[in-house]
Amino acid sequence: MNSCCTQPVEVIAADQHRSGESCCLVMEKTSAPARAECPVSGTLSRKVQSRTLEHLLKPEKLGARRDVQYYYCKEPACTVVYFSNEDVPFFTTEHVAVKIFVKDQGAEVPVCYCFDWIRARLKQQISETGKSTAASEIAREIKAGRCVCDIKNPKGECCLGDVNLFVKNAMLVVPPL
Ligand SMILES: [Zn+2]
Repeated sequence: MNSCCTQPVEVIAADQHRSGESCCLVMEKTSAPARAECPVSGTLSRKVQSRTLEHLLKPEKLGARRDVQYYYCKEPACTVVYFSNEDVPFFTTEHVAVKIFVKDQGAEVPVCYCFDWIRARLKQQISETGKSTAASEIAREIKAGRCVCDIKNPKGECCLGDVNLFVKNAMLVVPPL
């Protein structure tokens, strides 16, 4: 665990931690390779923790989960979500109980899964007020220990990078008041 949760809310909100850092989450340590290639898209993918799959696979797919290392494919055009570097079945967007932000452009898809910031809510706030309070609200929740990205966000990581990028792009489309 690094120290990002001990930093001021403004620093957390600015998402200073790089992708791949564990932020405030307790990460499983396994000896499997740090990255593996998606069997369908070939995308080099990062490890995801087993508890992420445990919470996000549809109930009927939980039994297909094996005691292996899984990886998360972030390729937007690929339907594979979780796969292993071992010879076991992979899981697609059909098998996951939530919509995957990077693979589904729908307005109702969450950007932040912990606090229900769907795309439409972020856009609405920006068009009504000229700004977004999402990152600072999320940062306050993280600091208070209420963030559960490891089991709610399909990528098993903090959403702030995605939130900040989405807000930045939305502000370009809807100029600040
Ligand atoms: Zn893939």
